[in-house]
Amino acid sequence: MDETIPRLAVYKFTSCDGCQLAFLNAGEALLTLSGLVEIVHFSELGKVDPDAKVDIAFVEGSISTPDEEEKIKRIRENSRYIITIGACATAGGIQALRNFGSHENWIASVYASPEHIKTLNTSSAISRHIKVDWELWGCPVNTKQVMDAIRSLLSNASPRIKRDAVCIECKRKGNVCVLVAKNEPCMGPVTQTGCGALCPSVGRACYGCYGPNENPNPQSLGQWFEQYEGLSKEAIANRFLHINNQAPAFNQAGQYFKGIKITNE
Ligand code: SF4
Ligand code: SF4
Ligand code: SF4
Repeated sequence: MDETIPRLAVYKFTSCDGCQLAFLNAGEALLTLSGLVEIVHFSELGKVDPDAKVDIAFVEGSISTPDEEEKIKRIRENSRYIITIGACATAGGIQALRNFGSHENWIASVYASPEHIKTLNTSSAISRHIKVDWELWGCPVNTKQVMDAIRSLLSNASPRIKRDAVCIECKRKGNVCVLVAKNEPCMGPVTQTGCGALCPSVGRACYGCYGPNENPNPQSLGQWFEQYEGLSKEAIANRFLHINNQAPAFNQAGQYFKGIKITNE
C-alpha cells in the first residue's frame, strides 16, 4: 500500500447480504478500521460510489445476470486487490442450485411475468469472470478472517488463508467427534477451516459451508457415509451439491455419487 490512506469498497452481487453483515458485526474493529481506510462504497453502510477507484475491494455474491457480468469487469478495472467473500462469491451459493436444471423453468415457476426477468443460465463464482486475488469462504464469511485480511494488506503482506480441514480445529478444541461417536455424516474431513469448528463444537455435523479444504478426498468420505452411516448415493450427492456446488472438488464428488452432468457455462 502507498502512503495515502487506502480506499476500500464492499460490493454486492447476487446474495443475501449476510457476508456484508460480517463487516457490520465487527463492532469496535469497524470503528478502528474506519480510521485506517477510507470506505468509499458500501451500500449497507450508506456509502455509494460504485465506480470509484479503490485499493481493496471485497465482493459478496455470485454472477447471475448480464448486468452483473459487466459490473464485475468494471470493478476489476477499478480495484487494486479483489477479495471475494462467502460461498456465493467463491462457489456460486445456494442460487447455483439452478445450474442443475433449466433456468427458464425455474423463472416460470417463481415469477408471474417471466418475460421481464433478465438472468443468466447459471449462477457462478466471481473467479469464473475476473482474476480474484484472494478468496474467503463460508456462509457467512467469518468477521475475524475479513479483519485479518485487511490488517495484512495494510501491512503490505498477503492475507494468510488457512486451508486445513475443520477436523484439525475440532481436535484442537477437544471436541467429541460426531462422525465417530454419533454416526453423524460430518463433512469436517473435507471442509476448510475458518469457522472455529462451530457446528461440531455444539454436537452437530459440519455440512461443508466453508467449501473444500486443501487436497480433500470427498469421494472417500462419501463412501464412508454410504458404508457406515447408511446414506443413499443421492443423499451423499446432495451434501456435496449444496451451497458450494461450484467448487470443483465438491462438484466432482456430487457428480460421482449422482451420476449427473452439471452445466458450468
Ligand atoms: S455466502 Fe451465505 S451469508 Fe454470504 S451472501 Fe451468500 S448466502 Fe448470504
Ligand atoms: S466432528 Fe467432524 S470435524 Fe470434528 S473431528 Fe469429527 S469428523 Fe472432523
Ligand atoms: S462446522 Fe462446517 S457447516 Fe459449521 S460453520 Fe464450520 S464449515 Fe460451516
